Amino acid sequence: MTQRTTADEGGTPGSVATPFDDLPMAVSVAEPLAPHTWLGVGGAARFFCEPVDVAALARVVRRCHERSIPLRVIGGGSNVLIPTAGFAGMVVRLSAPAFSSIEVQRPEIVVGAGAKLVHVVSAAVQAGLSGLETLVGIPGTVGGALVGNAGGRGGDIGDHVREVSVMLPDGGVELRSGAALTFGSRWSNLDDVIVISCRLQLEDEDSDLLTKRMQKRWIVDRSEQPAGVRSVAMMFKDPHGSTAESLVTQAGARDIRAGEATVHAPRSNFVVAHPGCSSDDVRLLVENVRARVRERLGIELTPQIEVW
Ligand SMILES: Cc1cc2nc3c(=O)[nH]c(=O)nc-3n(C[C@H](O)[C@H](O)[C@H](O)COP(=O)(O)OP(=O)(O)OC[C@H]3O[C@@H](n4cnc5c(N)ncnc54)[C@H](O)[C@@H]3O)c2cc1C
Repeated sequence: MTQRTTADEGGTPGSVATPFDDLPMAVSVAEPLAPHTWLGVGGAARFFCEPVDVAALARVVRRCHERSIPLRVIGGGSNVLIPTAGFAGMVVRLSAPAFSSIEVQRPEIVVGAGAKLVHVVSAAVQAGLSGLETLVGIPGTVGGALVGNAGGRGGDIGDHVREVSVMLPDGGVELRSGAALTFGSRWSNLDDVIVISCRLQLEDEDSDLLTKRMQKRWIVDRSEQPAGVRSVAMMFKDPHGSTAESLVTQAGARDIRAGEATVHAPRSNFVVAHPGCSSDDVRLLVENVRARVRERLGIELTPQIEVW
């Protein structure tokens, strides 16, 4: 739903002005967020927009700041659970070409936060630049990957970040590098800003060898992820020295069901949302699995999926 509209502040299209009506951009009201997520569940955003460039993004961010309207960015939506009530603020998606550029400046690559991670990985591999190929199976955008320091056994994206351009809550832009950047286990200190773009440090390597390595990784990742189902999300972070999947299995939690949400038995760290599933089903399932692991194994799993 992308409509230049007037609406009341409750999100129903109507005749009352929105706080964004004087801005030269399209803002939707009551935009359903489920289609923007992998799980495909959850309610609507009160306001939603896809700015065409950094200046447009700054206008929206500044307006939200001035009017105390909560603002969130949605990337590929592969790691968020939208509540049934939706999100009572502005949701921004960096889908415009201005945010999706991929520029090779060997041995570095400069990418927009809205670029799909898989596109960045293949561009680097084609250019004969190594470092990102193990991330090929991770869905989502560069922005989402940086905020959550996406990665796996072969390393994390944070290992390669040289510099990040971010937008602050007042619409100002700044470059962060070195000590100003911290990447931990599935988190970073970029969680209170909007990531606009980043510069990744890679290494020259033979493109054919890299392609083979990337293909191998792609096959392994595909075999480790739920096949043929799109409505999935990863439930928990891997605790140090173990995997969430093995703990869920050991705790006998693979058969837990909540409404239309189930554990994906072959890859038991994934929740599957079946037709008719609600956001509450998913949330309950994650809570119940976590409780089972706590009761049976005395281990507190940390949720990976972020509830808005
Ligand atoms: C099948 C499957 C396999 C997965 N495998 C892995 C894996 O191997 N390793 C791994 O680490 N994760 C994995 N994940 C989880 C998920 O894909 C990653 O966390 C991914 O990096 C999220 O990116 P996204 O663009 O979809 O982010 P979203 O889900 O859209 O957002 C996640 C968070 O990032 C924020 N965000 C997004 N873009 C920006 C931005 N530009 N600026 C500021 N904040 C932003 C959002 O506000 C939100 O807080 C998997 C998920 C699925 C469904």
